This record gives sequence, C-alpha cells and structure tokens, in this order.
Amino acid sequence: MWINDLTYSTDIKQLADKVDEQLHERFTRIQATVETNQAAVLRAFRHEQIATHHLQGTTGYGYDDIGREALDAIYASLFGQEDAIVRSQFISGTHAISTALHALVQPGDEIICATGTPYDTLQTVLGLSGEEKRSLRKLGVKVTVLPLTSTGYPDLEMLERVISPQTKAVAIQRSRGYDSRPSFSIQEIEQVITTVKQAAPDVLTFVDNCYGEFVEEKEPGHVGADLVAGSLIKNPGGGLARTGGYIAGNKELVDEAADILAAPGLGREGGATLAELPLMYQGLFMAPHVVGEALKGAIFTAALLSEAGFETTPHWQTERTDLIQAVHFHSQDQMVTFCQQIQRYSPIDSTVSPLPSPMPGYEDEVIMAAGTFIQGASIELSADGPVRPPFSAYVQGGLTYSHVKIAVLSALDAIWQIKSR
Ligand SMILES: *Cc1c(COP(=O)(O)O)cnc(C)c1O
Repeated sequence: MWINDLTYSTDIKQLADKVDEQLHERFTRIQATVETNQAAVLRAFRHEQIATHHLQGTTGYGYDDIGREALDAIYASLFGQEDAIVRSQFISGTHAISTALHALVQPGDEIICATGTPYDTLQTVLGLSGEEKRSLRKLGVKVTVLPLTSTGYPDLEMLERVISPQTKAVAIQRSRGYDSRPSFSIQEIEQVITTVKQAAPDVLTFVDNCYGEFVEEKEPGHVGADLVAGSLIKNPGGGLARTGGYIAGNKELVDEAADILAAPGLGREGGATLAELPLMYQGLFMAPHVVGEALKGAIFTAALLSEAGFETTPHWQTERTDLIQAVHFHSQDQMVTFCQQIQRYSPIDSTVSPLPSPMPGYEDEVIMAAGTFIQGASIELSADGPVRPPFSAYVQGGLTYSHVKIAVLSALDAIWQIKSR
C-alpha cells in the first residue's frame, strides 16, 4: 500500500513497495506476538478486577491507594514475578535500575555484569566511570564486568569460573542500548540465568529490561530472573505514561527496593499517584500494540535502508528482542540529514533543526532528533548518535508504524537529494 498524499521520487516509491512486500510475513508474526501479549494484559486486568475506582488516584501520603496496589499486581503477573512496584516517583529507567541494584547488594558483596560494559548512565551508578561518591563501588561493592566473547555473546564458561562466595548478584542487560553488540533474546538470557543458578543457586540474577518489554512473548521473569527493572517512558508505558519506572521480582527484593526508593519502613505504604493512574493503566493496555508498531517501524527502517545500500544492525531478518535499530551512513552529511528529516516529520518541534553538538560524557559531537509529546520518551520516534565514523544513527520507537514509514522514507529521499546536488 502506498501513502499517496506525499511526493517522493519514483525510485523511493518503488523501493518502498518492494520492501513492504518483503516484510509481509514478518509483520504477520509480529501481530501474533502483539495478540499474545494483549491477551496477557487483558487477563491481568480481569484478574485484578480493574474498575473505574482504581483510576482515582491519591494525594498527600498516598496511603491505601488501591489503584497503585492493583497496578503493582498486574506488572508482577505480566513480568512473571512475585511482586512489583510501579511508580511515577522513579524519575527514569536509570533511577529504577539503580534502586534495584542497591536492593541486591551490600558493601562487601560482588556484582558481576555478565553482558559486557553496561549502559552509560549505569556505569556511573556502578562506579565504573565518574567520581560519584555514592556509586556502588565507592560504597564498597565489588563490581566485575565480564567482557563478551569475540562474537559478542555472554561468556558462560568465564562466568561460571568467576562466580565466587563473594558474588551476590549477576546483572544482565537485555538491550544493546547504544552499543555495537547484539541485544540478548529471552532464550540467551535464560542460558545466563541457568549458568548462574547451576554454579551457585543463591546468587541473584537481575535484568535491565529497558526497550525489551513485550517484544517477545516471554519476559526475563518467565525464565527465572529474580529482579527486573525498566522505564515507563519506554515500552510498558505505551507512549501514554508521562513518567516513572518499575521494578518486578521476588517479594523480599521488591520490598527492599521500595524502602530504598522511599525510606526504611515506608516502602510500599505511600506514594501519591495524583492524576497519573489513568495513563499508566491505559498505557500498559496499549503497550503490546505500540511495541508492535515500533517494531514494524524498526524492521521497515532496516529493510529500506539496507536496500538503499546502507549497513543496518540488526539486519531486518534478525529476530528482535528490543526496539533499537542502528543505521550506518557513509558520511556525516547523510547522518545529519537523516536525523534532521526525522525531526521534520515529528508531531512536536517539527520546525526545529537539530545540529551536532557537544554532550557531557561524549568525546564526539552528538546529534539528537526527537519531536516527542513526552520529554525524552524513546518509545516515540527518535534518532540520535555520536557524529563520527561509522556515522551510526540509532533509530527507535514510533507510536504508529505509518509515522515511522513516512519519516524514514522522507529521510531517505533527502539523502538521495544530497547525492544528486
Ligand atoms: C534507556 C535505557 C536505560 C535507562 O535509561 P533512562 O534514560 O534513564 O530511562 C538503561 N539501560 C538501557 C539498556 C536503556 O536502553
């Protein structure tokens, strides 16, 4: 099907039709995953007997908030866990993950990162970079990062060897984030967890689930992860939740995490939900569908740009476990043009033109295109990356497949116009 009120070059139209054709079978399978996950969400809502009164919200201390408690129960069940906390008081995914990590370890314990160097902000939390006085390392936690194998996978033999009586927890990152390694599927995560539990049954396993929720039909909790955490302005907020994060896992760990988020003894009891519950519930209801749309967008982006001669990772035919799509351009000009076009075809700030600029923590200039309703929400379409060879733009999100398609086709059109200038 063609989007006929837009004027692309004939070449682009032909390419888009060809790509659409190729993706048919893939999209059918995504639809099946969406339906499985949508059914799970409905089942969880029904089980908790969600009704209008759950959406009311509380103020002040937020005691006896039945809407908050039922949402916790729904998250626990969807993520295959005993318990969960879902809170707008988490300011980001990093905050939720940091809280979870602090719940897992005490000074003197060791935590092993089994999937290579963690996501940038978590390196600071762990004390692998930066000088923060409150990093886990500064607090006396031993942090060990296991490098990936030469092919980019978790080194299970090495993991088995380095687990010691001091090891308290093993951390796994599902999504590649902005790294060049692959993202790890639920099946691969299961292998890591099995290795840990065979070597030392008492060692706890944690999964940074950011960008992974509802991409597959199982979550890390279904394959034995003791604790997981993520952001509500990515997948599980369905593009509607305005802020927040979640932690799900064993009851004792979740209780400890709640005490760290609030204060010892206050943990689960308080936390006003104000006016946020309707969007947190509705966002979760929408999440399987929205993740499906973003996934179709990522696969379309990979297929189209690969047909146009650019390297893309993952390849469009690769099975997905997260929403991140990297595209490697041939020049700075192409990368910048691509990001600028994504911005131009955003619902918000479409008249702003992003430029490469210095960013704290990055050696090279970074370009960021994001015209989102919710500040920084990467479940909405965005494109960014450091402007240096191999000129990789990371493209993620998209509330509707049509939006991603229109934006990416326009971006390719603009890149082709540079060539012919
Ligand atoms: C997005 C993300 C996070 C958390 O990022 P925030 O911007 O703090 O929400 C952590 N880990 C990974 C892999 C991510 O993609």
